[in-house]
Amino acid sequence: MKEFDYIIIGGGCAGLSLAYELEIHEKLKDKTLAIIEPREEYKKDKTWSFWKVASHNFEDCVKKNWENFTVNIPKKTKHLKCAVYPYQSVDSGLFYEKINSKLKENKNISFFKNISEINSKNSFIFNSVPSIKKDYRNLWQHFCGVEIETQNDFFDDEIFNLMDFDCDQRESVHFFYTLPYSKTKALVETTWLSKMNDSSQKDYDHQIKDYIENHLNLKNYKITYKEEGTIPLFYPSYEETKNKINIGTAGGMTRLSTGYTFLNIQEHSKYICKNIENISKIKKFEISKKYQFLDDIFLRVLNKNPKIMPNIFFKMFKSSPKTVIKFLSNKSNFFEDLSIILKMPKIIFIKALFY
Ligand SMILES: Cc1cc2nc3c(=O)[nH]c(=O)nc-3n(C[C@H](O)[C@H](O)[C@H](O)COP(=O)(O)OP(=O)(O)OC[C@H]3O[C@@H](n4cnc5c(N)ncnc54)[C@H](O)[C@@H]3O)c2cc1C
Repeated sequence: MKEFDYIIIGGGCAGLSLAYELEIHEKLKDKTLAIIEPREEYKKDKTWSFWKVASHNFEDCVKKNWENFTVNIPKKTKHLKCAVYPYQSVDSGLFYEKINSKLKENKNISFFKNISEINSKNSFIFNSVPSIKKDYRNLWQHFCGVEIETQNDFFDDEIFNLMDFDCDQRESVHFFYTLPYSKTKALVETTWLSKMNDSSQKDYDHQIKDYIENHLNLKNYKITYKEEGTIPLFYPSYEETKNKINIGTAGGMTRLSTGYTFLNIQEHSKYICKNIENISKIKKFEISKKYQFLDDIFLRVLNKNPKIMPNIFFKMFKSSPKTVIKFLSNKSNFFEDLSIILKMPKIIFIKALFY
């Protein structure tokens, strides 16, 4: 059976981002790479959005940039603007196409459907398939989004809605998210932060229809694309093994308070690529301990007090948009952290330390 210097398990966002980073930095000229990916074909299955606080390789896959956004709770709306860190949406269809056509040029890179097709004993492995144990206490971000098209101009595409909490919360945390790609096209998503133990929350089609027709007051539209997902708001169990690094969701690249993962994956890929010659000896790359600690407290508060969360998210945006964006994107300094922390209800957060 064939052997490879490197194996990437899972050719999704993290696996392909890493392969691309290694390829463009010519790290696969004299090394071989096997990518294990069971899917039959690549097609658009996700829209990755984030604040661009760092550069990445996929600017040409960005569908749209926004500098303006809103956050809503019932009867209140905050308008925010941040030109230095625009919000971007990457089309996964364009991303897969760009990377796969680049990787095809290198004969040292091969794709397999199953790891049993190769000899993996002596290879260095990058694994992006998470091992998730079922635990009823765990929180998830689960959501469904549809892209819709209207015949006439309807949306203001200069401004997107990050979180609209003016909706049914059902003892959990629930908001809608709207990304207008043009005056006639938008992604509308229903998002829940919950333990996923209430099946009524998964009535996504009904929630979206009701929101579009009765909240946005749009009756005439057609659905052109749909995506559904679950993001664990806990770290998948991690087994330290020599010659293996977990990447992507499996590698703890999700910011637990927000679900944002894409840009962390890009930074992890850059880190691995920079250190690839010394890969078995490098320090584990992780989201800084400061954010791990703060997110842990935040999720404890959310778990115990879902009803107050819309207000808490709303209050967070009393700090300047730049400060909040840096905080949510793991780029804030001590004073920026403090500015956010001071906006939070102190007693509830201090109590959460002892749950
Ligand atoms: C619908 C959706 C929307 C999201 N939107 C955002 C967003 O807007 N912003 C953001 O920052 N994050 C977002 N995320 C979170 C995160 O960025 C994505 O989940 C991202 O795809 C994670 O990359 P990954 O490589 O870890 O996992 P994936 O991209 O899921 O890749 C894992 C790959 O492993 C393959 N695989 C599965 N089983 C096996 C196996 N046994 N052996 C080998 N391969 C296997 C799968 O087919 C898949 O291709 C979203 C997640 C989802 C699900």
